[in-house]
Amino acid sequence: MSDALPLSDMLARARGAAPAPTPAGDAPRRKVFVHTFGCQMNDSDSARMVELLGRHRFEETAHPEDADLILLNTCAVREKAEQKLLSALGRYREHKARRGALLAVGGCVAQQEKERLLARVPYLDFVFGPDNIARLPELVERARTERFAETGWMSSEEYVFPRADPESARGRATAFVTAMKGCDNVCSFCIVPHTRGREVSRPYPEVVAECAALAAVGVREVTLIGQNVNSYAGGCTFAELLRRAIAVPGVERVRFTTSHPHDLSDALVAAFADEPRVMPHFHLPVQSGSDAVLARMRRDYGVAEYMVRFEKLRAARPGIAITTDFIVGFPGETDDDFEASLALLARARFDNSFSFVYSPRPHTGAAKRLGSAPEWREVPHDLAIARLERLQALQRRISSEVMAGQLGKVVEVLVEGDADAEGRRFGRTPENRVLHFDGDATSAPVGALLRARVTRAHANSLSGEIVGRA
Ligand code: SAM
Ligand code: SF4
Repeated sequence: MSDALPLSDMLARARGAAPAPTPAGDAPRRKVFVHTFGCQMNDSDSARMVELLGRHRFEETAHPEDADLILLNTCAVREKAEQKLLSALGRYREHKARRGALLAVGGCVAQQEKERLLARVPYLDFVFGPDNIARLPELVERARTERFAETGWMSSEEYVFPRADPESARGRATAFVTAMKGCDNVCSFCIVPHTRGREVSRPYPEVVAECAALAAVGVREVTLIGQNVNSYAGGCTFAELLRRAIAVPGVERVRFTTSHPHDLSDALVAAFADEPRVMPHFHLPVQSGSDAVLARMRRDYGVAEYMVRFEKLRAARPGIAITTDFIVGFPGETDDDFEASLALLARARFDNSFSFVYSPRPHTGAAKRLGSAPEWREVPHDLAIARLERLQALQRRISSEVMAGQLGKVVEVLVEGDADAEGRRFGRTPENRVLHFDGDATSAPVGALLRARVTRAHANSLSGEIVGRA
């Protein structure tokens, strides 16, 4: 692979001049700024991009105005995310003009829009899809002579998961580990299968080796990630993968995200029952409380089946925090359908939920059918917003009650670092609740497992006092 583009060449290219030859090995370090939108998969992909470029004389900067290369790692799940991308590009255009930085868009919008994005944004240098991250240094080099969109797929057999550099995680208590990519489901609202491609599972020895490398630099909690992580098939089942990860010396806690209820096997439930270091938090997106809507969403479960799995989890691990996602205003959603979502929320009493107004996405089944029949009629935006507000108000009330139920309890906290307020630290409980407490790096070092008594409950976090080591 050729080396990355030296700064002088980048500037020359940005000014339209021919790049001057640079003797190999003496180019100065250049700066890359990455703006990440969307999910944990994107956070993890951005970290891999910075590591890869770090091997090609780039270092990360938090200031776009200092950057020689500005990367936007994008999300296409809802239209709003795309609009945010366009306004961010407008801001970075100034830095490009002032400093001659290269400007590139990666991630799901890149995969969805391909060359169209280059046509729409004339000052954009290149576009690259999620399967092309490993080639990023080569693409930066190529951008010196042409504008292009590189959005091809790699076959499942060829695909190699970029390995995390454990050094980037040194000094942190937690890290993400990619277990699989893509999604083979066909939920009618979702663009992910179009932008992330088919499911590919990372072979389990690689996942376990990455957990071990992270533990060796002090990471205590790993979160296994994938768009549909519990359909994992990298040489063992997902439940077995969890058990292998938790067996790695130094790994004290394992989490994962995100899951489809369809793949919640009894073996996975059993891992929650008998492996205390699999953390008692499960994000189990339900999307709707109406069977008719779930059928149009092609979720392949009904409310009753969802609740069977939900109850099994609660029985296997009393006190487990279960969170979910809801979509409101899905095509054809009636008042009764929406009331059913409220009723499900009231019955399940989710610890928390992410809720969204339905956003029609290109290439998806629901967007193609929108308005084609009475059961696919569009829900007026104002009505969808009003429903969202009602659902979120109910969730806030339930979340506050759940958090208030923690008052006086002694909980385990894994220390993650300084909180915003002076003299305060923060960590997470096993249920993934953020807890703030008085302390400093000596009394509560990053990675320490402490016990804290909960003294105050807020809507989204807890406060407590440290009472000892866990
Ligand atoms: N794989 C997970 C699952 O099966 O539920 C969800 C991953 S998706 C990227 C994250 C969440 O975004 C979904 O659970 C859904 O609530 C929301 N979402 C996806 N497509 C959407 C759309 N077109 N409009 C609104 N929300 C959407
Ligand atoms: Fe999208 Fe999740 Fe459905 Fe896959 S399982 S299509 S990622 S919502």
